[in-house]
Amino acid sequence: MECIKDFSEAERALNSDNPPAINNYEDWLRASFGDTFATRFPMVYGKRYHTTDAANMSTDWLGPRLYTPDLDEVLRGAVAPSQSDVHYVDNFRYPTHGGFAAYLQRFFEASDLRLDHTLVSVDPVERVAQFSGGTAIAYERLISSVPLPVLIPMIDGAPSDVVAASARLACTECVVVNVGVGRDDISPAQWRYFYDEDIFFVRLSFPHLLSPKTVPDGCGSVQAECYFSDKYRPLDRSADECIQPVIDDLVRTGILDESDEILFAEARPIKYANVIFDLERAAALETVHGYLRDVGVTWCGRYGDWEYSWTDQAFVSGEEAAQTLLT
Ligand SMILES: Cc1cc2nc3c(=O)[nH]c(=O)nc-3n(C[C@H](O)[C@H](O)[C@H](O)COP(=O)(O)OP(=O)(O)OC[C@H]3O[C@@H](n4cnc5c(N)ncnc54)[C@H](O)[C@@H]3O)c2cc1C
Repeated sequence: MECIKDFSEAERALNSDNPPAINNYEDWLRASFGDTFATRFPMVYGKRYHTTDAANMSTDWLGPRLYTPDLDEVLRGAVAPSQSDVHYVDNFRYPTHGGFAAYLQRFFEASDLRLDHTLVSVDPVERVAQFSGGTAIAYERLISSVPLPVLIPMIDGAPSDVVAASARLACTECVVVNVGVGRDDISPAQWRYFYDEDIFFVRLSFPHLLSPKTVPDGCGSVQAECYFSDKYRPLDRSADECIQPVIDDLVRTGILDESDEILFAEARPIKYANVIFDLERAAALETVHGYLRDVGVTWCGRYGDWEYSWTDQAFVSGEEAAQTLLT
């Protein structure tokens, strides 16, 4: 009841002649949903996923990600057993064979890829990219998808204020724990979100529900996402030490049973996972992108744009960067 009362007051305030000021994500949540819902649900989940408080975040990443219902929908939702699906992803495709990477197979075949090269420095005056192991490549034009906090300190002569700005760009670090199980009826849903602060993982997905060919016949799989960040919640253990807490909490939440056969478990750390839209991001990004423009380095991708892009958007970002240099 409290939740509906708050929602209705917030909706009235938002549509009044004197709407509340919105200076950060918390303001937006309170204004959109009312205090009770905002503080119990998205503020709690947001802190788990983004690793920082909503009051420390901007709103320029939201796009369609958070659905804002009207009062009619909230009232119907409170009394009816289930509502229509309003998730922003209402359909998707997934390759039957080869997992998500199979989408890129055709591009691999059509491209001259030189993998296993780690960039260690860029000389923007002589236009030389230096890789570990001693390879140096002269370039005419350079497009980089390397994360900006990694790229900027590698550019010869990068001013200290620009290096400092790149270090202020915050990103979550995700330890992905993959678990293979001896049965396939472990979840009715492809994704599950966990709001409880004492659960080790934040989000789960179930690859065998995307394609049964991702697992042996009759088996199931869980991918658990556990979030940290250097800036706000440093990873306090090795990636492998995340495996057991994930398995324990899969049992505690009833997704797995103590008697389930664990056929496989591994942890993969993703150092750059989701860009954190904290209140320092916009100014720091302007400084960094301004400098890259000055030295003739073009950026692209999720960690070059420093955006919350999905794979397809990261792909288009690379295409647009190439088009810009070709015209
Ligand atoms: C847990 C998680 C779940 C996600 N789920 C989805 C989803 O369901 N759907 C979706 O569309 N998107 C999803 N995304 C987002 C998607 O993964 C990204 O948008 C996409 O991978 C970005 O591609 P990119 O090429 O810009 O960056 P990346 O794929 O990260 O490419 C950057 C590359 O730079 C390389 N690099 C770094 N330093 C150096 C160096 N010094 N020298 C050379 N190379 C270097 C890295 O190794 C990396 O290969 C998810 C992301 C995460 C973290």
